[in-house]
Amino acid sequence: MSELFVRTLREDPADAEVPSHRWLVRAGYIRRAAPGIYSWLPLGLKVLRKVEAIVRDEMAAIGAQEVSFPALLPREPYEATGRWTEYGAGLFRLKDRKGGDYLLGPTHEEMFTLLVKDLYSSYKDLPLSLYQIQTKYRDEARPRAGILRGREFIMKDSYSFDVDDAGLDASYAAHRAAYIRIFDRLGFPYVIVKAMSGAMGGSASEEFLAVAANGEDTYVRSPGGYTANVEAVEVPAPEPIPFDDAPAAHVEETPGTPTIETLVAVANSAHPRPDRAWVAGDTLKNVLFRITRQDGSTEALAVGLPGDREVDEKRLEAQLGEGVAFEPFGDDDFAAHPELVKGYIGPGALGLESASKVRYLVDPRVVSGTRWVTGADQPGRHVFDLVCGRDFQPDGVIQAADVRPGDPAPDGSGPLELARGIEMGHIFQLGRKYAEALGLKVLDQNGKLVTVTMGSYGVGVSRAVAAVAEATCDDRGLSWPREISPYDVLVLVAGKAPEMLSTATELASFLSAAGLDVLLDDRKASPGVKFADAEILGVPTAVVVGRGLADGTLELRDRASNSSEEIAVDDAVETVLARVRG
Ligand code: ATP
Ligand code: MG
Repeated sequence: MSELFVRTLREDPADAEVPSHRWLVRAGYIRRAAPGIYSWLPLGLKVLRKVEAIVRDEMAAIGAQEVSFPALLPREPYEATGRWTEYGAGLFRLKDRKGGDYLLGPTHEEMFTLLVKDLYSSYKDLPLSLYQIQTKYRDEARPRAGILRGREFIMKDSYSFDVDDAGLDASYAAHRAAYIRIFDRLGFPYVIVKAMSGAMGGSASEEFLAVAANGEDTYVRSPGGYTANVEAVEVPAPEPIPFDDAPAAHVEETPGTPTIETLVAVANSAHPRPDRAWVAGDTLKNVLFRITRQDGSTEALAVGLPGDREVDEKRLEAQLGEGVAFEPFGDDDFAAHPELVKGYIGPGALGLESASKVRYLVDPRVVSGTRWVTGADQPGRHVFDLVCGRDFQPDGVIQAADVRPGDPAPDGSGPLELARGIEMGHIFQLGRKYAEALGLKVLDQNGKLVTVTMGSYGVGVSRAVAAVAEATCDDRGLSWPREISPYDVLVLVAGKAPEMLSTATELASFLSAAGLDVLLDDRKASPGVKFADAEILGVPTAVVVGRGLADGTLELRDRASNSSEEIAVDDAVETVLARVRG
């Protein structure tokens, strides 16, 4: 400790939002260089290397081979797949001295695909899984919580290459099993959830989320075992309802009702329903957005949903796909669409076939035969008994309504519960998208050229350091699981007597000789300072050489439980080895 490059801090960093960030900085593991960009100090780097070692170990176990690509990449491959543009503001683009376009890699599908294309040409070369552990760059809109969401971060990304779908399934299953072993070994609670499979649709895609109250991802689970990222929940459409007997739609005066709440109140007082009171869920709310694509083109989108639901922006974002931005309709947008009466917009004015030409997508619950109270496209008026499929035809369906606790699981496995997590890993059947765009084909058994099918698998390695810290720290500091702790044991000298230092030094060298990674706190600081630092640094086991030495005892401390016990000096080596090796 007297030589280690570390300085613990007594104050929280001003920008720390979450405990892991606060403690990693205060314990001297990381240091901010710029927003979302961090330096690793010796202690942090040791933890990072241990996480990497686990990942390498489990990748090797499934036969994946390690390569390493540059982070500085040429534009052309990313141009060929459209991502140079689609990635939008998230991509760090730069020019070399000759004016050539380059980027800092945010993820490497293109490069891996081209490498395999360069060297392989036959089904006999496959299956193949390659990976790297490498620095990625993404100009995140909201870098957050230290290394949890950085603009420079370390990812393990692997890619599998197979000749057919069955091969891809097997590669995916192997990666899934490897990920389970990786996250089990990292030692924090996690869940595997269904994830969005994006524009390609249909293929398997799952995320590994660390369970964390302040995580950015929301996931759902049901008693019957359904789990999904909230973005990926697909609300099933109910059966269509026959509408032959439904009354004709009728427009009613509903003055001063621009919100669902005011509408329900006026509907109940001025147009009561015979069987029961009107509720928000009887109304059809139409929410307008201005969508901006990467090429700068804009388009209006109307989302229709039951009035008791809100548009969930993350679900909408996931539906619109990478690189598409959206904003609620503003005054300018309304000015450009005089046929849309703010507060009273109904299906009558919406749809590609309507006068407004605004694309109209509805929640899956808005199924044929459902009857709604909704805007009549005139100020102060609503239309009642407007029947979907009879009186209006939406352009399509969109999964953008919020998911609530108690909603039924899509697979009928019970009511949903919501919880939060941090995305740690993502496994994804990419299919043939990249192979097609970049021309990765091999000859199959019949001598026919076939496009290779790929999987893409990521682990947030630097994020894992923060996520484990987040899951294990307490109000005194960090507390590492054994497998990734920077040291196995801390030997702490708590007093000035020279035999304390000599006993501690001797114990430390015995433990090192036995193969443990030992940190000796030999500083001249007071025991109080050393104890506080020990708690901040979070080494799981500490041996305190202090006053008890005179009676032949040492103190063995366990950081996770903050408990301690007396042990005999004579058996100290065996006792500590047994404790550390479990
Ligand atoms: P997110 O939804 O959190 O932005 P993503 O879906 O964009 O992540 P992937 O492209 O699937 O992430 O990347 C694989 C893994 O890399 C993620 O599961 C996550 O652990 C990690 N990761 C992604 N972005 C960051 C970041 N900005 N900082 C640290 N780790 C990251
Ligand atoms: Mg992801």
